[in-house]
Amino acid sequence: MVQSQSARLQVPYTPERGSSEGGWRSGLPLLPRRSLSAALLLAAGCGVAGLLALWWRQTPADRLQSLPDYLVMLAQITGLVGAYLLLIEIALMARFPWLERRLGSWLASAHRSLGGYLVLLLCAHVGLVVAAYSVSLRAAPPEVVVSILRTYPGVLAATAGFLAMLLAGFTSARSIRRRLGYEGWHAIHLLMYPAAAAAFWHQLSLGAQFTRNPWAAEAWAGLHTVVAAAVISNRIVIPFLSNRRHRFRVARVEMVGADVVSVYITGRHVAELGAEAGQYFRWRFLSRGLWYQAHPFSLSAAPQQNTLRLTFKCVGGYTKRLKRRLRPGARVLLDGPYGAFTGVLRRRRGVVMIGGGIGTTPLRAIAETLPGRRRDIVFIQRASKTADLVLTRELEALDRAGRIIYIPAVGSRKNDPLSADRLLDLVPDLGDRDIFICGSAGMTAATVRNLRRAKVRRGRIHTEIFDF
Ligand SMILES: Cc1cc2nc3c(=O)[nH]c(=O)nc-3n(C[C@H](O)[C@H](O)[C@H](O)COP(=O)(O)OP(=O)(O)OC[C@H]3O[C@@H](n4cnc5c(N)ncnc54)[C@H](O)[C@@H]3O)c2cc1C
Repeated sequence: MVQSQSARLQVPYTPERGSSEGGWRSGLPLLPRRSLSAALLLAAGCGVAGLLALWWRQTPADRLQSLPDYLVMLAQITGLVGAYLLLIEIALMARFPWLERRLGSWLASAHRSLGGYLVLLLCAHVGLVVAAYSVSLRAAPPEVVVSILRTYPGVLAATAGFLAMLLAGFTSARSIRRRLGYEGWHAIHLLMYPAAAAAFWHQLSLGAQFTRNPWAAEAWAGLHTVVAAAVISNRIVIPFLSNRRHRFRVARVEMVGADVVSVYITGRHVAELGAEAGQYFRWRFLSRGLWYQAHPFSLSAAPQQNTLRLTFKCVGGYTKRLKRRLRPGARVLLDGPYGAFTGVLRRRRGVVMIGGGIGTTPLRAIAETLPGRRRDIVFIQRASKTADLVLTRELEALDRAGRIIYIPAVGSRKNDPLSADRLLDLVPDLGDRDIFICGSAGMTAATVRNLRRAKVRRGRIHTEIFDF
């Protein structure tokens, strides 16, 4: 049974220093996350500089004489940089396995952050073009818009793409995203691919930097071809071939809580996937009412020879249907494994895992695989009420087996059971440990803040957010 947090707090665990029992080695050396992400940002920045240089070379000073000239100049710059950002946005989601394995959710959060700038740049581009023509033709903006749409080839498709991007940007605001659910949000985001194709056609047919410079046009087309090939290969061809080989099926569906379900999947040659505890797949269950959607779920147990397991909580339409309709024998298509949130991030002997609600799943899988003594791995499970604690029996079993110290921490946000002081009470050597957190964006941000207050270094905190 779950013990109350106060009972645990009366018997805090005391750190033991200098003991070498319980074999443990640091994870494989990976190129540090920060250096790799900084290198990517630098490369992206160099691309922007290159585009600006191209624009500069092709824009003689005497072409800038009037207000419309300046407006066109700004429209060209915002259009060029916006188009480049759109390409980067798509590349970030192209699922390059090497990058996914090292940067994981950083790629998705960079994609989310850049999305806002992309929408701003494209709005500026459209506004500046319309303003430039309005001033030079002395015409009202709506008249100019109609005239541009009628006159220039490809602008109509590019405008449709622009509107789709606006919609994607608008629906990415957290409050709207929550209301829309994963299904609606994902469908809108799929529109980005035709939108990007329309934008590309527009740039090559009307972008002065490309119409006047065939080399630049070829390089630009080459860059787009590479990214398109990566998307098609990593997101369609490789998953298709992989699923043909592995032939995954649902082996067992097990209710592990009122609204929490574990699903066991078997397949051939599972080890070839190279999946690790903590990673996630996008799962598509080929059953009635489920086959047309793929949702991300983490592995909730370490992969076995021929078995994978996920555990999901019923939160919306899809997960509720999944609970009702999923039966053993159903075929499953997997896309993945994705994510860098694995035991490889461990650099210290001591580890604290903090799982918020269903965010416990990848942590439970990682905890199962981490070598060490019982006291090395403190597993804190955060929930607002006891009913929201998931996989408790399994965590208690790991505790009894001497693999982890399991601490359920139940309490409202107001009376945060994971405030900095309470965290230090629970784990006095907190600053000397690696911290793995998984949960909602709000819970993760609050916990990171508390850990920082407790003087834990940022580099020791590893997070995974169940957000899209
Ligand atoms: C990398 C990653 C790994 C994930 N791993 C798991 C996992 O192992 N197990 C699991 O159950 N879920 C996991 N999720 C979340 C899971 O993908 C969503 O819960 C699922 O797609 C919801 O689909 P839906 O149509 O049922 O609900 P939606 O209609 O998409 O959502 C319904 C409502 O629930 C909210 N919501 C969505 N997800 C959650 C959540 N996890 N907790 C509370 N509220 C939520 C939404 O904001 C919305 O308000 C993961 C997400 C990501 C990005």
